[in-house]
Amino acid sequence: MISLVILSFTVKKNYTSASTNSFTKTINTIVIDAGHGFRCENGCRHGSTGENITEDQVSYEVSKRIVAELKKKYPSVKIIESRPTPFFVENRARAEFANKNKGDLFVSIHCNFVPKIRDVRREGTRTETKYVYVGKGKKRKKVKKTITVPVYKTYYLPNPAHGTETYVFAAHKTDDKEEIIMENGDIFENEKDDSTINNNINDPLIKQQVALWTKQFFANSVKLASMMEEEFTTLGRFSRGVKQRQKGIWVLQATAMPSILIELGFLSNSEEEAYLLSEPGQQQMAESIVKAISRYKELVEKGAPQPPVNNGKR
Ligand SMILES: [Zn+2]
Repeated sequence: MISLVILSFTVKKNYTSASTNSFTKTINTIVIDAGHGFRCENGCRHGSTGENITEDQVSYEVSKRIVAELKKKYPSVKIIESRPTPFFVENRARAEFANKNKGDLFVSIHCNFVPKIRDVRREGTRTETKYVYVGKGKKRKKVKKTITVPVYKTYYLPNPAHGTETYVFAAHKTDDKEEIIMENGDIFENEKDDSTINNNINDPLIKQQVALWTKQFFANSVKLASMMEEEFTTLGRFSRGVKQRQKGIWVLQATAMPSILIELGFLSNSEEEAYLLSEPGQQQMAESIVKAISRYKELVEKGAPQPPVNNGKR
């Protein structure tokens, strides 16, 4: 909760030696973000739809299980939900919620979907009767002609795409992330001693520090994402790896903290849909996610700086 404030002190006090040491901090607030949601105004669900369950339902159920497991494991860590009910929440509101609550980590839960594969096959021939003109000038006349034409049929085949994926913000969207970190200068507003920080966001040294945070947020997001995929593999799931989406992912760009987006599996794949629909499947995924969060937490907190010592200068 106060960790970014602590870092802002580091900026002020140590910015002349902008540290490139590994980004260590205490994880005090974890934001769990259940993707999509039910839109009551038009009675439809936002997100992809499998045969028997929708993405917003799976993400909601799994998120609730993650929250329960995290609360059990870390009673002193604030575990908050950006979509606490089955209902839809706009992306902007999700990111604002995470930033306002000074999240140290943002984990968004989704499911994948791909359309069936369209396959057009030639299946025999049929005859067609046509009238065509033959000859020229006065000899030109219309004659009946029978021709043979191929017959095509379209099939939609199950798409074999399956497995888990974890996304981190796209490197080319780094500017967006920096801007958000800048805009969220008010994260520091509670620190009365450090009131100058907001006025200094154009200071090149502060800018440099923000760029460093962005880099560290990226590095830490990749670390956490890799741990997620490792846990899924341990569980026996097929991992499609850690990815970046070219078009960018708003909630990942707009959160001033390390953030990842997990695709639990493909609802277009009947086996994975059945797994994600099942209670054991949902529980296993939630537990693996919590395991990865714990490993990440341990890693970043190892050697985390203690709150600034009151050395009489503050
Ligand atoms: Zn989604």
